[in-house]
Amino acid sequence: MHEAGHAFIADQNIPVLGKEEDAVDNFATILLLHYVDNGDDIAISAADMFAFESEDRPDYYDFGEYIDEHSFDLHRYFSTLCLVYGSDPKKQSNLLDEIENDYLKDRKEFCEFQFDSLSQSWEHYFKQTN
Ligand SMILES: [Zn+2]
Repeated sequence: MHEAGHAFIADQNIPVLGKEEDAVDNFATILLLHYVDNGDDIAISAADMFAFESEDRPDYYDFGEYIDEHSFDLHRYFSTLCLVYGSDPKKQSNLLDEIENDYLKDRKEFCEFQFDSLSQSWEHYFKQTN
C-alpha cells in the first residue's frame, strides 16, 4: 500500500509538502484504518516490522543516513502507532504505553489531532477520484 501511495500521488498530481516517503506511509495507514477490516491490526503489524528492522541498528547513524528520503525505522514505527492510537483512543488505550510518562499525555493528544488532520487531507483526494 506504501508503493500504491507513490502511484496515487503521481497519478493525481498531489502536491507533496515534506517527505513523500512519510506521506505514503500515512496514506497506507489511513487507508487501513478507514477502509480495511482489522486494518488497525494490520497497521500495528507493519509498525512492528519497522521496530524489528531497527533492532540491529547502531545507536548512532552516519550523516549520510540523515539525508535519506526515508525516515528512520523507529520514526516510521511510532508514526504508524500514533495514527492507530489516534483512530480509536479507547480501543488502543495501551498502544503507546512504552512512551515515557513525561510525554505520554501530550503525545496522545497530538496523535488524535494527527489522525484527524491526515484523514481529512487524504479524504480530500480520495473523494476527487470518484
Ligand atoms: Zn516509498
